[in-house]
Amino acid sequence: MILRFFPYDLQLKHTFTVAGCSRISTPGVLVEIEYEGITGYGEASMPPYLGESTASVIAFLRKVNLQSYAHPYHLEDILEYVDSIEQGNTAAKAAVDIALHDLCGKLSQLPCHRIWGLNENKTPDTSYTIGMDRPEVLIQKVKEVEGKFNILKIKLGGEQDKEIIRTIRQVSSLPITVDANQGWKDKYLALDMIHWLKEKGVLLIEQPMPKEQIEDMAWLTPQSPLPVFADESVQGYKDLIRLNGLFTGVNIKLMKCGGLREARKMIDYARASGLLVMLGCMTETSCAVSAAAQLSPIADFADLDGNLLISNDPFKGINIRQGRITLNDKPGIGVEKCLSYAASTEEPKIKQR
Ligand code: MG
Repeated sequence: MILRFFPYDLQLKHTFTVAGCSRISTPGVLVEIEYEGITGYGEASMPPYLGESTASVIAFLRKVNLQSYAHPYHLEDILEYVDSIEQGNTAAKAAVDIALHDLCGKLSQLPCHRIWGLNENKTPDTSYTIGMDRPEVLIQKVKEVEGKFNILKIKLGGEQDKEIIRTIRQVSSLPITVDANQGWKDKYLALDMIHWLKEKGVLLIEQPMPKEQIEDMAWLTPQSPLPVFADESVQGYKDLIRLNGLFTGVNIKLMKCGGLREARKMIDYARASGLLVMLGCMTETSCAVSAAAQLSPIADFADLDGNLLISNDPFKGINIRQGRITLNDKPGIGVEKCLSYAASTEEPKIKQR
């Protein structure tokens, strides 16, 4: 197996603002694993708050030695080894995980969702994310996607929360999911806000309070009239077990948990313990988004729009038709490379056989 990787910065179409920060690009690293002339694609995306960087992802990937594995089919063994190299580094691990799943799918000539026995007709709608902005920009963004999506995801967690929702409601009656990105610090205000949001047609609240405020969350969730989803509080499977009972649902993202293998474990656990499942993403190309979408038939909600927010997507993958995730029949994660990224970067950094 040959492992290659390429730094690739994702350019955002619009400046993206959430509680805490604004940005216009997100660093990424694209990964390829080749076996007998077939290439699997993977990707690491590193929004600043996750703590990984292009340098840390490359440093991790340099440590990945696939020499002792004769073929990619022993994916469980290989990914167990990759996970054991070093703690953390979940985006770097996700890149290897996605590329291996893609490769195994291509070698079997089957899409991942079919290998897992998932029904492609059961994919959910994806929400479309709208960051915090001035009222006129919010209105413009909502109008831009009118008729294309069935759920809007609105970022709150600041001073202007009610004004933002009122502005959106001037131009759209679509169901809304709200992501407060840990922005509400007072549990009483948070509960009042959730009651108010329910009246405005909001379906669920994501990460209302800071992840450190565990006792406040334990107070808030049972009283909340809307489902409360963990995002920043839950990175991987272990957090899900540790925080059982603190949330009604969980937002699972490949970059947080380390890839499809861990995400499937989390979904199984969530299902077994009665938690709702949302599949989310970072700013990502169609590579990682299409990989996550392979699991979407067993998700209650999806927020898989990261690829739609960038202007330099080098892949073609899943489609959104009338707001709904549409999987294709292509093997693996269902993507095709449509833009050469190798040419714009240095020579591949490592090769392994
Ligand atoms: Mg979130």
